[in-house]
Amino acid sequence: MHGAILVAGGSGRRMKNNVQDKLLHPILHTNAFRLCCDAYLASKEISSLVIVYRDEVQKQALLAELNLAQKHIIPTFSPIMIQGGKERKDSVLNGLLALPKECKFVQVHDCARPMIRSVTISAITKEVEKKGAIVACRPMQDTVRECASRNTNANTPQSTKTLDRNRLWLMETPQAARKDWLVKALQEANKREIFITDEIAALELLEKKTAFLQLEYPNPKITKADDLNLIEYLLQKND
Ligand code: C5P
Repeated sequence: MHGAILVAGGSGRRMKNNVQDKLLHPILHTNAFRLCCDAYLASKEISSLVIVYRDEVQKQALLAELNLAQKHIIPTFSPIMIQGGKERKDSVLNGLLALPKECKFVQVHDCARPMIRSVTISAITKEVEKKGAIVACRPMQDTVRECASRNTNANTPQSTKTLDRNRLWLMETPQAARKDWLVKALQEANKREIFITDEIAALELLEKKTAFLQLEYPNPKITKADDLNLIEYLLQKND
C-alpha cells in the first residue's frame, strides 16, 4: 500500500508578510493547497493521505479547503490531519508515524508545489516499489557557483568556486521511499542533529540510493510572493 504526506506546516517566513499563508492565497479560483489535494485525492494508487498542518487556525482553514476539493473528487480514504513540527523533517516524521502500518511506501509532497499532476504520483508509486527511493527532479541548466556564505555582502568581492553543472540536479517533490527506510533515516538525522531540507538528504545518511524522475512539466515551489503570479500564468497556459 502507498501512503502520501502533504506537508503544509511551514511558517512561510520568506514571503516577508506579503501574503498571510502562501498555501491558501488565491490562485485563480483555487489555491496551492487545494491544487495538491485535487491531485492526490484523484490518485487511484494512493490508499492513505496525511496532511501536516502548522497550528489549529491553519488546520481549520485547510479542512475547509479539503472539503471543497472533496466536493468533486471523493476519495476511497479519509485524509488524516496531523500537526507538524519545528523543522520540515519533524513535520515529515510526524506524518510518517500517522500513516497506517499497511503503507509500505510513502511519498512526501510540498504543498508549496501546486503544479503536481496525478500522472507523476502514479509514476512514482510504480517506481518506488522497484527502486526503494525516487525523487522528482530536473537537471541543472544554469552555471552554479559556491561561495563562503549567502549572508556575505553581494557587492564585496569574494572567492568563488564553479561547480560542474553536468553533475548537478535540482530536487523537487514528490520524494518517495520505502516507509521503513524513511522513518529510520529521519530518526538518524535527529540523533545526529543534522539539518536537512528534504527526504533524500536523510536517506543519504543511511547510504540509500535514489532514482531520479525527470518531470516533463514545470513544478516550481512557491517561496516568494511573485511565485504566485508564475503559478497563475502556468495554470492559465494549461487550460
Ligand atoms: O520551507 P520550505 O519551502 O522548504 O518548505 C517546504 C514545505 O514543507 C512547505 O510545503 C512547508 O509548508 C512544509 N514545512 C512543514 N513543516 C515545517 C517546515 C516546512 O510542513 N516545519
